[in-house]
Amino acid sequence: MSDAWQPLVTELDRWHQSGKKVRFWLRDDDAIEPSSALDRLLTLSDQHAVPACLAVIPKFTGKELANYLEGIKTVRVAVHGWAHEDHALPGSKKIELGGERSEAVILEELRQGHERLSQLHGERFVPVLVPPWNRIDPALIPHLKSIDFEALSVFGPERPSAIREINTHVDLMNWHGGRCGHDTETLAQMIIDRLKHCHDHGGVVGILTHHLVHDQQAWMFLDELFSMTGSHPAAEWRDIKSIIEQSE
Ligand SMILES: [Zn+2]
Repeated sequence: MSDAWQPLVTELDRWHQSGKKVRFWLRDDDAIEPSSALDRLLTLSDQHAVPACLAVIPKFTGKELANYLEGIKTVRVAVHGWAHEDHALPGSKKIELGGERSEAVILEELRQGHERLSQLHGERFVPVLVPPWNRIDPALIPHLKSIDFEALSVFGPERPSAIREINTHVDLMNWHGGRCGHDTETLAQMIIDRLKHCHDHGGVVGILTHHLVHDQQAWMFLDELFSMTGSHPAAEWRDIKSIIEQSE
């Protein structure tokens, strides 16, 4: 492994010396069906015993994905909007859960997404809403519990909210810099920044991946992250289900 990891290893060593553990979780977005990229992700996570939470797009998925995931113990399925379609008002950022449509229409789609994925995935299903583009109209949030969601997962620090947030904090992809994987040094620093926050305020470190668009750097980073954390006594990977069950 390259020297780019050293600052993160040093930070984890510090946690270990003070008897604390860092809890990581993995969210991977945009799954619909089995693919070689999904296979690569889940083979990697399985090899390192890292539980993965797949944010699946309900409208376009079906039995094929459910059958494929059947034999994989460490995987969970969350609700990634309904169709991952943009309904933004003109001139606004992309949004499915907000924008030009009424609250009632959006909430009905989310209710259907919850129902469809829980029926397809049974025990693997977790009642967590992952908004496409990590974006949701705040006016919808107080209604999510009434359609049986228990948590919301977006990107960035958790905010006080009508429903618990279990967020991601480090995105492997550099969307605005060429849609390629961030370099290792940058990502290690993003994890360190989150660790400093967790040290003072508690919380988990959410790693965000998008298996369908990973380049060589993103795959290599993930492999090295799993290897490094797998052998470090201060790091542990948590199943999102156990994070939901644990009160913060
Ligand atoms: Zn997405």
